[in-house]
Amino acid sequence: MRYSFALIAILAVSFSCSHSGGNSLTKAEKTLISGSGPVMRVLTVDDPSDSIFLRGKSFDFSDRDLKGKYYRDLAGKMVSTVTDPSEDGVGIAGPQVGIARRIIAVQRFDKEGEPFEVYPNVRIESLSGDIVTGPEGCLSVPGKRGSVPRYSKVVISYKDPLTLKTVRETVEGFTAVIFQHETDHLEGVLYTDRIISSDPD
Ligand SMILES: [Zn+2]
Repeated sequence: MRYSFALIAILAVSFSCSHSGGNSLTKAEKTLISGSGPVMRVLTVDDPSDSIFLRGKSFDFSDRDLKGKYYRDLAGKMVSTVTDPSEDGVGIAGPQVGIARRIIAVQRFDKEGEPFEVYPNVRIESLSGDIVTGPEGCLSVPGKRGSVPRYSKVVISYKDPLTLKTVRETVEGFTAVIFQHETDHLEGVLYTDRIISSDPD
């Protein structure tokens, strides 16, 4: 009897969470965001505790947090981090800077000027097109590259932090590969899990 009551309570909590769009940022997350300079420390698989963190799942931001300073600061710092000459990547995901939230910054090679853009509460809705195998690397797996098969077309969804509306977009080509690599991080998946051959270059 007590067990079934507890189960109902858990179901009710998870139902209400999905409606509010995720739990609020924790004190530890806020401290990490506000305590970092413009360039955040990138977690790597070379460090045992980083490695465990990179294998965890990430969670949505609440609507309230998407409107707030910490989200804006995190988004800006993630772009500063991935574009810093010491990193020089084409994409980065929340867990790579120690924040287990569904946020990625992606270089939009399919847009004029190839800007970096940030996507909160992002998901891959569908994968289609040809499967193309290409070389990948990762800021969290230093000094390695490998060949990974990826779909050439994705439909992504994310929440616009200004309107709080869910936006869907179709992305193709190399930028679609970056979206697949970065959203994998949000599930604790690294490209090395999908590698089909090591690239000596
Ligand atoms: Zn990566």
